[in-house]
Amino acid sequence: MRLILMGAPGSGKGTQAEKLMNEYDCHQISTGVLLRQSIESGSDLGHKVQKIMSEGLLVSDDIVLDLIKNQLSEIGDDGFLLDGYPRNISQAKSLKDLLETINKPLDYTILINVPSEILIKRLSGRRTCSLTGKTLNIYFSSQSELDECLSNGGELLQREDDNEDSIIKRIEVYEEQTEPMIDFYRSAELLLTVDGQGPVDEVYLGLKKLMEL
Ligand code: AMP
Repeated sequence: MRLILMGAPGSGKGTQAEKLMNEYDCHQISTGVLLRQSIESGSDLGHKVQKIMSEGLLVSDDIVLDLIKNQLSEIGDDGFLLDGYPRNISQAKSLKDLLETINKPLDYTILINVPSEILIKRLSGRRTCSLTGKTLNIYFSSQSELDECLSNGGELLQREDDNEDSIIKRIEVYEEQTEPMIDFYRSAELLLTVDGQGPVDEVYLGLKKLMEL
């Protein structure tokens, strides 16, 4: 399986990618995760991208293309699920060329559709449990899920770019730069769309149904 999960920040790409990866035995490649890891490790790349990411802007196309090339060469012939890449038409074209060169065409691109008022609440409430790494939400997770983290000595951590200014910027960047990719993949007859408004498991069922068609 070779696919792209596309959607606005907060649409649930990462969460759904993890579930798909566990069930379908393919690799999740998330440029956002890779970039955050480079910041945490204090690498040169991390220093280069930290400010841009905290402002909610896109890092340069060359940087993310290098990350993707490395990851694809590491996974060999296994399937992959791209989460957060590509994010503009130029990246989509580079990916197309790259996949043609290595003879691994995409099966499809799945767009997870969520209205922007829901996105803002999801992003501003998003937290990660410092003990388990589980993604929680102060507005949507049950009190017992939040307590499970806190009562075991964990902290609810917030991503640096999940602050109000950056959230608004990221949604704007999505609308201006990423949304045009919808037509790009529709014209290539690779686009499938799923409603991403419901609970995680419901969206996941919708995704699986699409993939089984
Ligand atoms: P994400 O975890 O996918 O929400 O990405 C977090 C941030 O990483 C984005 O707001 C961008 O600053 C950067 N980023 C992730 N993927 C890309 C990409 N494909 N192109 C450019 N910047 C990216």
